[in-house]
Amino acid sequence: MNRDDFLPFALPSVSEDEIKEVVDTLRSGWWTTGAKTKKFEADFAKFVGASHAIAVNSATAGLHLALEAIGIGPGDKVITTTFTFTATAEVIRYLGADPLFVDIDPQTLNISVDQVEDALKNHPEVKAIMPVHFAGQACEMDELLALAEEYGVRLVEDAAHALPATYKGRRIGTLGDATVYSFYVTKTIATGEGGMVVTDDDAIAERVRVMRLHGISRDVFDRYTSDKPAWYYEVVAPGYKYNMTDIAASLGLHQLKRAEAFRQRRELMALRYDAAFSELPVRLPFVKRPDDIHAWHLYVLRLQTGELMIDRDRFIELMAERGIGTSVHFIPLHRHPYWRDTYQLDAADFPVAEQVFAECVSLPLFPAMSDADQQRVIEAATAILQDACG
Ligand SMILES: *Cc1c(COP(=O)(O)O)cnc(C)c1O
Repeated sequence: MNRDDFLPFALPSVSEDEIKEVVDTLRSGWWTTGAKTKKFEADFAKFVGASHAIAVNSATAGLHLALEAIGIGPGDKVITTTFTFTATAEVIRYLGADPLFVDIDPQTLNISVDQVEDALKNHPEVKAIMPVHFAGQACEMDELLALAEEYGVRLVEDAAHALPATYKGRRIGTLGDATVYSFYVTKTIATGEGGMVVTDDDAIAERVRVMRLHGISRDVFDRYTSDKPAWYYEVVAPGYKYNMTDIAASLGLHQLKRAEAFRQRRELMALRYDAAFSELPVRLPFVKRPDDIHAWHLYVLRLQTGELMIDRDRFIELMAERGIGTSVHFIPLHRHPYWRDTYQLDAADFPVAEQVFAECVSLPLFPAMSDADQQRVIEAATAILQDACG
């Protein structure tokens, strides 16, 4: 098989608009944070309906800044899901605090509300909850917000999968204390590397803005356009270097305009997969509230391994042999040596994540895929699964 025949798991969609904007930025000489980043922030805030959007160079940076801004520090605990990427939890460690991992809901694969409640009851050191809107489907936000209120803790949402998702008709980004999006190259809109912190809380926004760029009280662009002398600035904290470049924002400006079209394409493809696989020994992604917008970052199939002669790993190998890239979301964090050994985590405490991990596989689902590409995935998966039924 030659390389051209391989369908990768994910690829970004780029149009002439993004390319022209990047070239314009390169020619302008202003490559770092400037007018284009400001415009991207303003457009993004409007898109999600939030007061503040602060652009950063990754969602990991944004999650770190959001937790810093709500005052997470040594001795604190933050509740999060084991069924996520390590970035969600590592930022808790950056601040010297400790994650408290809980299991997931067996249908949505989002953080289990019951487990969050138990963790809050048993651990008074908890200062925040960090849910992840898995695959682009919103978590149980009413319940999580009520628990946050009852126990006096903050809610920081990892929305790396969730642009543009809604919860009971409201856009994600306007519900918790802060919400963080990712524009990593595989995500629903991409800037190569990038992220956005969204909040309605003025104090959080102010702190994130300052800490994003060295703890300087005004960002570089303001410094060069305000009437204060250009050389003057004040450092008010030991901040970070997390600002977004105008090169990345050039991509983001146009990707955001296409976000709804991308989502519609993803949804259409998800529905096609559902229809194609409905009679096979697999569990389809569960959609909890069909009236809400699902961002469909991922299409996660669960193989009914009890009815199959192959396991998930073998399925992935067979798909690769047919020239199709797949992935696994996620290897639960309690299985990784660092998290397991540091917090003495026992797989028996995460039975749902364990079960789902054994059977889950993510299929290619991206707007740049053609209908023929998707048909190839459907035919390959169908043939492999039918063979495996014996
Ligand atoms: C991709 C991802 C991140 C990290 O995003 P970056 O922009 O790469 O830092 C965080 N959380 C989840 C759930 C992700 O999928």
